Amino acid sequence: MAETIGKTGFSRRSFLKMGGLASAALTVVGTGGAAYHAGKDKMSYTGYESFEGEQQTYDRKRFEIDGPAYSPVGKVKRPGSFTDLVFVRVGIFGQKVKEGWTPADGIDALGEPLASWYKEFPDQLELDVQVGTVTMPNAAKDHAKYDDYFALADAYAWGWEDIFAFYPAIPTTPPEESDYTLTHAHPGGGSHDSKIREEPRPFKSPDHAAELIKKVAHRYGATVVGITKLNPDFCYADGLRGAEDQGPYEVPKHWKYAIVVGVPHEWEQVLSNPGHGTSYDGYNRVRNVSARVTGFLKHLGYPSRSHHPPFHYDLIVPPIAVDAGIGQLGRHGFVICPETGSNIRLAVITTNLEMTIDKPIDFGVDHFCKDCKICAEQCPSAAISTAESSEGMEIRGYEHWHINTGKCFNFWMQAMGPLGCRLCLTVCPYSRRNNWLHKIAKDVDINDPTGLVNNALIFMQKSLFEMPDPQEYLRPPDGRFAGYREAPEWLQVTNYLAIDPPNPQIGG
Ligand code: SF4
Ligand code: SF4
Repeated sequence: MAETIGKTGFSRRSFLKMGGLASAALTVVGTGGAAYHAGKDKMSYTGYESFEGEQQTYDRKRFEIDGPAYSPVGKVKRPGSFTDLVFVRVGIFGQKVKEGWTPADGIDALGEPLASWYKEFPDQLELDVQVGTVTMPNAAKDHAKYDDYFALADAYAWGWEDIFAFYPAIPTTPPEESDYTLTHAHPGGGSHDSKIREEPRPFKSPDHAAELIKKVAHRYGATVVGITKLNPDFCYADGLRGAEDQGPYEVPKHWKYAIVVGVPHEWEQVLSNPGHGTSYDGYNRVRNVSARVTGFLKHLGYPSRSHHPPFHYDLIVPPIAVDAGIGQLGRHGFVICPETGSNIRLAVITTNLEMTIDKPIDFGVDHFCKDCKICAEQCPSAAISTAESSEGMEIRGYEHWHINTGKCFNFWMQAMGPLGCRLCLTVCPYSRRNNWLHKIAKDVDINDPTGLVNNALIFMQKSLFEMPDPQEYLRPPDGRFAGYREAPEWLQVTNYLAIDPPNPQIGG
């Protein structure tokens, strides 16, 4: 048995480990002052924001793994676009309620595919009912009272998003047609369609193709780019965009490869999530990259299709991004990439251009997430699992962390500002600008078999970085619509507008 010290029950080994932990922490803290200044330097931003162009800043080679990132552990089932995608499901369910459905009518009266899905996940039906009966009526009252306080955040976010109405880039015909069609914009307004070249312009080799696609994607604004073969298991089973028949479909044969592109949110805003942050800056930028890469491929004669946020996909992005070596899946269900952590918005381009593919990487996220749990502890809706590991969490035949999307969505609809939450992305220790301390910490951590650096980093994150009590993110009177940090000065209405609205964050 381990020797204990005094009445504390602490073992000598634990004590020594604490000593090691403290010195590891001190070493990292000791460099903190300089790192703070490095972190404020614009050059420490990545990709889009630093205009670094084609260089991804992390050497992935050392962490590449052979073989697929995911292997089935059970019966594989492709996801349902009308059910598993919470935004779409709640929309369809809401329509049924508008048409007169009440719980007294029973689940079968909802029709397929909702009926079967809710029978499998009855807790999600309760949560979806809650959206309409509790969350939305409360949200209407909150918006009437507090919208002025979030006016600049709202305007800023919608300024990003509303322009989407002018170039939606959403296919309206099946892949066999739309993926082979180019839409040319007329400089004076309007557009016309034409077929892509019958003979694609040939590349010298798959290496050349991959290299050029990455260079071009970075120039179109991508921070990270990865390429993989498309695993059809991750394509939706129904609801193919542009298809007349919205039922089950075969994955098109020309969707052989997936190019994954990613762009981070603006860092300043990320810290003020949920109320003063937005998803639309990242969504908009990554959508532009994805649409432009799609256009580039089509102009060379390769059929292609863009799958991008907010919900214009025929596939689920995270596992494809993991396959493409962009990063690893975190406890919160986001992909964590080495350059920007959880702060990354992703899109996928499917095509048949033959390219050299990337390998998945393992830079220690699984191990770190097991001990960290910060996202789960900070999540206002308790949607993220606090389990010790993801073992046994099988979802549609694959093992990964389980997220309760119904709970998450309920909080989304409760949060003020330009919609959504993103707190799990914000609080994740990996979501730090890519300054040199960040790089050192990651490199030291992955190379430390004792786990001391791992523990030191988590200890520092929890004790040195102030975090609100998760309850504070909720609506008054339970909470105060808190932000993780104060809004940037340029989004604080009283700094620029001649109004002085009630401030829920200080109990106004
Ligand atoms: S977005 Fe917010 S509510 Fe949803 S899982 Fe993340 S922290 Fe929780
Ligand atoms: S906050 Fe911690 S547990 Fe959650 S995804 Fe990030 S590293 Fe993993």
